[in-house]
Amino acid sequence: MNSDLEKLFTEAFRLLGGTRPIPPVEVRFYPYAGLHHTIRLRSGRAYVRLSDICRDSPADVQRALAFVLVARLLSKRIPAAHEKLYREYSLKPEIQRASDIARRRRGRKMVSSAQGSVYDLDRMFARLNRRYFQGELPTPTLTWSQRRTRRILGHHDRVYETITISKTLDSPEVPEWFTEYIMYHEMLHIKHPARVMNGRRYYHTGAFRSDERRFPHYDEAQRWLERVARQRRTSRARAA
Ligand SMILES: [Zn+2]
Repeated sequence: MNSDLEKLFTEAFRLLGGTRPIPPVEVRFYPYAGLHHTIRLRSGRAYVRLSDICRDSPADVQRALAFVLVARLLSKRIPAAHEKLYREYSLKPEIQRASDIARRRRGRKMVSSAQGSVYDLDRMFARLNRRYFQGELPTPTLTWSQRRTRRILGHHDRVYETITISKTLDSPEVPEWFTEYIMYHEMLHIKHPARVMNGRRYYHTGAFRSDERRFPHYDEAQRWLERVARQRRTSRARAA
């Protein structure tokens, strides 16, 4: 069915796999919510699902993608030329647009309330907007994360115009200035859109960083972040 694609993956397994036997490969396109692909091995067969956005991509891009995915599966270094070719393709405006549209149409987003048990994200956003952005930032959807994620404290999603703040920060044990700092950082992502330079996306540009340092509790916030990272390492060590 996708025999040309299957040949590309077979080639990637042959060149990257060393002495491993080459598995039979099955490739299908799948309507993922975004430019997303998966590869897995089961009972000696490789199952590949590629974003349907790549259905019409040029043959050299599909070949590069095969090498990227097989290298990832085998924990091998991705050949630099393939990585560069695929990355440049994925950053093309028309591909980004197709990916955004797929996410909007297919992605489901869980939105909970902005009112936490300790902090109210709507009020916090309005306050910071007045204080540091002359009230000029457009208000996105503000939401506490569903799960108590410690790894990601805040996230700005430009497709959904959403800022998500980790529920772990809705706690009387977390000082208000720290939760505000995480919110302020995400607000800077609205003010400073990512820039593409040399085929890479830069989110934390020089201008972003210098604005970030203007936050009055910046140094304390950095120390708090280090503490959170340390606690995470300890709890992981305990779990292991
Ligand atoms: Zn950031």
